[in-house]
Amino acid sequence: MSSAHVEARSSALLVDDPRFSDHAPPAYHPERPERLVAARAAVARADVVWKPLSPARASDDALVRVHTAAYLAQLERMNGKKGYIDPDTYVNEHSIEVARLAAGSVASMVTEMVNGPIARGVALVRPPGHHARASQAMGFCLFNNVAVAAAQARALGLPRVAVVDFDVHHGNGTQEMFYGDASVLYVSTHQFPFYPGTGALDETGTGDGKGFTLNVPMTAGGGDAVYRGAFERVILPVIDAYAPSMNLISAGFDASLRDPLAEMTLGTSAFGWMSRALRKLADKHSSGRIGLLLEGGYDLVALEGGLLSAIHGMVNLDAEEIAREVDHDDLDRAEASAKRAWSQAL
Ligand SMILES: [Zn+2]
Repeated sequence: MSSAHVEARSSALLVDDPRFSDHAPPAYHPERPERLVAARAAVARADVVWKPLSPARASDDALVRVHTAAYLAQLERMNGKKGYIDPDTYVNEHSIEVARLAAGSVASMVTEMVNGPIARGVALVRPPGHHARASQAMGFCLFNNVAVAAAQARALGLPRVAVVDFDVHHGNGTQEMFYGDASVLYVSTHQFPFYPGTGALDETGTGDGKGFTLNVPMTAGGGDAVYRGAFERVILPVIDAYAPSMNLISAGFDASLRDPLAEMTLGTSAFGWMSRALRKLADKHSSGRIGLLLEGGYDLVALEGGLLSAIHGMVNLDAEEIAREVDHDDLDRAEASAKRAWSQAL
């Protein structure tokens, strides 16, 4: 590790804005502004020197890298209105502007990470993004924040971006946007079968992107040991071979034991362990560049604890060890599939 890394080890960029709380549901909904109270508590408790970034509204140019112009126009027509786009996905009078602000702010964070000197960033964005498709809002998501961020990194000239999505739901939107694109490696761990239904082992990319989508579907109930196995046997070797120039984490905390929407059983420290493992690869391949973007996580205690652990793993490299792998059919299948897809891709 270089001395520059040591000096900067406790600094990180922070994306947050009071307006991210203005996106609010008409009645109880799990994706609610109180989630940010929990996330901000984690940030306040973290042993990190934060550099706050000025939020920036996403330009059309930044959004059309991953969304269609027709979709932008459709959302603009909803601007200022309230309602449900689908049974899961609400908007209020602020939502479209808030979503623009979230997507633009993560793009700015990526620009700062590329320009330096601070290579780590944390974005407390709402609404979340990874289910948003090129031309469709879905699963609480309007604009696909992590996809906008990855596309920004590419537009700035970085050759390869790795997106690791440990939200308990598969990031169907992100996968789709880069499915034929070898310059963005999409990796997801998720409960399966589960919402949104995608993320099977054999979804590995298409055309030039064949082999650059890596899904690790998990049977309900898995916890720290199976995630550690997934990372050590499947995910970390693939990212190491890919040698990304930027790492982005779609950080959902809904694989937590406490989460009300899903059935995985991660403890708090697993989020720190996973983030630390990714940070080590970022130091090896990516000049330390790693950004964490908030996705899901609906239990406020689990969200605060998981995010705090992830920040310490990612920024300070201090994370508790978690349980070592047990024998698990899911992992055998995922490892075999990843080896097959990866050997075809290279
Ligand atoms: Zn989720």
